[in-house]
Amino acid sequence: MNKLGLHMLVYTPTWDEKGARLVFERAARFGYDFVEVLIFDPDRFDARMTARLSQEYGLGVAAGLCGSPTSDLSNPDPVIAKRGELWVEKAIALTRDMGAGLLGGPSYSAVQRYALPPSELARDNAVLAYQRLAKKAEAAGVRIGLEALNRYESNFINTLEQAASFCQRVGSDAMFVHADMFHMGIEEGDIGKAIEGVRHSLGHVHIAESHRGYLGTGNVDWKKFFAALHRIAYTGPMTFEAFSPTVLGFDFAGFIALWRDPFRDPDDIASKSIDFMRRHIQEAAHAAVNA
Ligand code: MN
Repeated sequence: MNKLGLHMLVYTPTWDEKGARLVFERAARFGYDFVEVLIFDPDRFDARMTARLSQEYGLGVAAGLCGSPTSDLSNPDPVIAKRGELWVEKAIALTRDMGAGLLGGPSYSAVQRYALPPSELARDNAVLAYQRLAKKAEAAGVRIGLEALNRYESNFINTLEQAASFCQRVGSDAMFVHADMFHMGIEEGDIGKAIEGVRHSLGHVHIAESHRGYLGTGNVDWKKFFAALHRIAYTGPMTFEAFSPTVLGFDFAGFIALWRDPFRDPDDIASKSIDFMRRHIQEAAHAAVNA
């Protein structure tokens, strides 16, 4: 059975002890296996506190990272790109220190609307940067997942296939593809084929609905999605991810252009979502047996 995770942003944008404790407590209460933490700024992140709470609640932890406009590994400006590489390097150490084995998210890019495609040189340099980072990750016992983001949030990796071919260019087992159904809904053609195409490199999945809210109330064909994961025998982790300005405030929600409230009660959506994921995993297995 896949390990099921709860994303911190369902509950809080603030990873101090109070915020972290709330997320771990609710994840444990509703039966999640792990908590996923977004490292906003690797220079201000308490890995020790995270490790301590993970132990206290008996839950695993996974990490995510976004680049920023000033620390952007795929930026054509070499100063910004180098800062972006150091940013990921620090996050690898934090991931190890908090006891996590996985660093997902768009660490390769700022999350913003770009006006131009990345240059070939920026692409080549990003491959070299991840080759150096993969060595650090291997030494730290951490694997790096590249999350394909939709076109409005990155210009660098928009599809699972792009993520897989980038990982292949880097050429390290420490690299894998991180899929998110919300972004796939904008960028992929056939969801089943997209998943099958990364059967050898998929390492993490975000379970996120088309409007970022309650699973099963948007336009995602979840039956098809979970059937594809079952076909490729995906046994890796899955994290429930949803966002709401009620929880995050509009400062943060503006970052991902979320102007509506897909949910108001984190407990309600977190408890329903783990049931939804379990049911779909079981139904996909059952359907395959009876096919
Ligand atoms: Mn995601």
